[in-house]
Amino acid sequence: MGSILTQEQKIEIVKRGFSRRSLARFGALMGAGAALPFYNEPAMAQLSNLGRLPPGAVKINANENPMGPCPEALEAIRSVASQGGRYLYEETFDFSKTLADQEGLKPNYVMAFPGSSEPLHRSVLAFTSPSKPFIMGDPGYEAGQRAAAFIGSKVIRVPLTKTYAHDVKAMAAASPDAGLIYICNPNNPSGTITPKADIEWLVANKPAGSILLIDEAYIHLSSEPFSTNLVAQDKDVIILRTFSKLYGMAGLRAGAAIGRPDLLAKIQAYGAGALPVTGMVGAHASLKSKNLVPERRKIIGDIREDVFEWMSKKGYTFVPSVSNKFMVDVKRPGQEVVKAMAVQSVYIGRVWPAWPTYVRVSVGTREEMAKFKVAFEKVMA
Ligand code: PLP
Repeated sequence: MGSILTQEQKIEIVKRGFSRRSLARFGALMGAGAALPFYNEPAMAQLSNLGRLPPGAVKINANENPMGPCPEALEAIRSVASQGGRYLYEETFDFSKTLADQEGLKPNYVMAFPGSSEPLHRSVLAFTSPSKPFIMGDPGYEAGQRAAAFIGSKVIRVPLTKTYAHDVKAMAAASPDAGLIYICNPNNPSGTITPKADIEWLVANKPAGSILLIDEAYIHLSSEPFSTNLVAQDKDVIILRTFSKLYGMAGLRAGAAIGRPDLLAKIQAYGAGALPVTGMVGAHASLKSKNLVPERRKIIGDIREDVFEWMSKKGYTFVPSVSNKFMVDVKRPGQEVVKAMAVQSVYIGRVWPAWPTYVRVSVGTREEMAKFKVAFEKVMA
């Protein structure tokens, strides 16, 4: 496993305070991400032993987009598939360039990846160590925390504020040696916003030498501003984007890390670095589709608000999310409700230790959410 690392990389890793034994774990993380237990939503969903679901099951457990890729993406994927015998690196460059243009950045500020899990893990590898902790909100998306724990970096979890934002003051104060401060905006699992002003405050006040990793996997589902202007200002910020959520391409795999070229160099792909051309052309066509983001934001937002209205009428307590998932308080161990819902063939998301009586529910289609309502009322009765 360790052989995936060059001698130089091995020396650098040991210098950062890792034991020689950690090298194999770095190698595993670099080379076999998909096989590791913290990889991404589907992998974490598998932790609850879902496996293949029965026909007709309602799958609202992994914040996926049931609409799938947009028509333009599907067309681009269809027409490139027959040329799939070629690496077609130029498709990756074209995708990166369009994303950079749209964000007002130079092309070398964007690095394409097959989704955002990989640059998330690589950032943890590059910027944390036993003496440089990983700092995150609680409850928060677990992938970074798992990667940090796997390589022996300290993890510091900072509870969200009363308004469910990241507590940026507490995060800045968590450790003077912070390596990576992770903010997911809107947050997973809560679907709640950390105001841009708080993010800007954190950039200005974080410990020297630390990097702020802003995960914008769900940003298009909200009306919040992007944080890419901080990258344009050459701050110590890396932004993650994915096409797995609003763009409906979770299985096709496309994403990007956006940051200063010297920071991106630290998480640069090892090995050949060819990306799935289907993912690249699909992502590129999605970016160019003019009304896709506002249209899908509205469709998903309307379904979410309808469920919220229903839950309010029924007296259920939930966290007001602006995303494609929400947390609902089931007032008993959440796992019991996850299991009982599965018996009804409605597969909802997992439970976070910080909020043990809350379950996470993804926003599916109107039909799926109608089935959710029936099953949920039955289970809660
Ligand atoms: N970041 C967050 C907050 C997520 O919720 C997910 C997946 O659900 C990811 C990153 C990784 O997704 P992907 O690798 O499909 O881009």
